[in-house]
Amino acid sequence: MPSPTEGRRVPAILCAGTAVIDEIFRVGRFPTPEEKVHATAFLTLGGGCAANAAVTITRLGGRASLAAPLGGPAGADSIGDRILDGLAREGVDCRSIVRMPGMGSPISGICVDDAGERTIVTYRDDRITEASVSDPSSLVADVDAVLADNRYPDFALPICREAHRRGIPVVIDGDKAAREKDTLLANASHVIFSAEALRETVGMHDLAAALKLLAARINVFLAVTEGANGVLWFEAGAARRMPAFRVQAVDTLAAGDVFHGAFALALTEGQSPVAALRFAAATAALKCTRFGGIGGAPTRPEVDAFLQERG
Ligand code: ADP
Repeated sequence: MPSPTEGRRVPAILCAGTAVIDEIFRVGRFPTPEEKVHATAFLTLGGGCAANAAVTITRLGGRASLAAPLGGPAGADSIGDRILDGLAREGVDCRSIVRMPGMGSPISGICVDDAGERTIVTYRDDRITEASVSDPSSLVADVDAVLADNRYPDFALPICREAHRRGIPVVIDGDKAAREKDTLLANASHVIFSAEALRETVGMHDLAAALKLLAARINVFLAVTEGANGVLWFEAGAARRMPAFRVQAVDTLAAGDVFHGAFALALTEGQSPVAALRFAAATAALKCTRFGGIGGAPTRPEVDAFLQERG
């Protein structure tokens, strides 16, 4: 069966937001305070919502560029240099990365336990939030969609505004609570929250009710991911649920980022938002079966085969 991308122009997506280094320890269980535990595996590789989404897109056969603030300059900030090397190996166009002189790039220490769950500690120099892109309209001139996480809203906003003005899809990864009357959301076409971020944004535990409340305030395609419980989206006045694919999860780190990257790519290929959710769920489920954060993101033939096998 031919892949949906065969014979078509390869879509290009600009991802905007965070890029970090992930130092990932695999542990039997998380340490308690004062306790030392041995890791059974260790990996260090790139991470961060937007960077992980960009890697997902290239692995799935799309073109991805990344606009993200990093420390700098090159040679002085080894973490940033490592992030860029890793992204270049994945075929991500990094020309829109902004390096901030005299600052270190963000870094995360992560434990993944036997159940595939993770705990994350991140260090970032907060001055990095002062970074900005010089020409947002040229950044979006040649792309089919923008995908932005909301970790650096002031950095991503001019990019989303330009993309919105051009009428291309603007997908927001609501990875943290959004502000009331959030201008990033006002420039979006599709917003997919993580469960905790939506709960905090709306101040309500029930995800279906939270979606409904937010849908009354913003006119976008609205969804929320809930780990192994799948994804809910709002359509025709009600919240609907798509269950996650059942897999043996060994590492859920980066599942949300992979989900967003796959969703954005599927939209640019002409899939409906609901079909794109399913494609994203399959891509994220496959990622969860492999240890190593974004290193476990699948390729397009793997996702196509998985979807065919699961009907
Ligand atoms: P985030 O990391 O942003 O909180 P989630 O944990 O909600 O993201 O996961 C995003 C998506 O990844 C889910 O909606 C689901 O499709 C998929 N996923 C996550 N965990 C699992 C799992 N254990 N089994 C199958 N799919 C999963």
